[in-house]
Amino acid sequence: MAEKIRVTVWNEFRHEKSEESIRTIYPDGLHAVIANALSKDAELEVRLAALDDPDQGLPLDVLNNTDVLIWWGHMAHHEVNDALVEAIRARVYYGKMGLVVLHSGHHSKVFRSVVGSTGNLSWGRNQKEIVWNINPTHPIAAGIPDHFCLESEELYAEPFYVGEPDETVFLSWFEDGFVMRSGLVFKRSAGKIFYFQPGHEECRSFYNEWVQKVIHNAVYYVKPAVSAFEIPEGAPHWGFRAADEFDA
Ligand code: ZN
Repeated sequence: MAEKIRVTVWNEFRHEKSEESIRTIYPDGLHAVIANALSKDAELEVRLAALDDPDQGLPLDVLNNTDVLIWWGHMAHHEVNDALVEAIRARVYYGKMGLVVLHSGHHSKVFRSVVGSTGNLSWGRNQKEIVWNINPTHPIAAGIPDHFCLESEELYAEPFYVGEPDETVFLSWFEDGFVMRSGLVFKRSAGKIFYFQPGHEECRSFYNEWVQKVIHNAVYYVKPAVSAFEIPEGAPHWGFRAADEFDA
């Protein structure tokens, strides 16, 4: 039997503690809802991590035993240690870890560092969103209908300053007339990153079955390909050898 995919769901986990209205929606943190949905898949080994945990939730032994890191942050992006950001970026680039960045994570140090862009965009009031599946043959779109509705989600709007992504899977329409490329894949060095726009803390999007399915598909899509580490015997000049960088 194949080894399980080890998923760590990292949440800043501050809004849920400081604001009653948000705690009502996500009493154990939004990461717990994401993790519960993923845990229905017995092939996944899912753990939770939060900013206020020791080592900001990601000590080395956790980092080195995570195949896919899911990231949600908003009000405390600046508190995340630069050394941790660098450790994550290196693991993604060396094909040791896949990365899924959700919603306001577009402005996290992790997203900006790994993708190499500001991640700037426009935003506005909560409103109806239609997520259009514009890449139905893509693995992250597997089983997702041609569109699905979120009755209340925060407006995020183009231009989304991330340059041209490697793959665009979803495009969203918002009630006020704006559009947003809402599901994007970035390939950097040996790693893959998926950005998904829904997930405002005041809304219930992480309970939506399609949002859960997109995140689940994304875990499988960005997980590292083990073959990336195989260096042919006799290659005179290695492009990289991950074992040189990560002993654990
Ligand atoms: Zn938000």
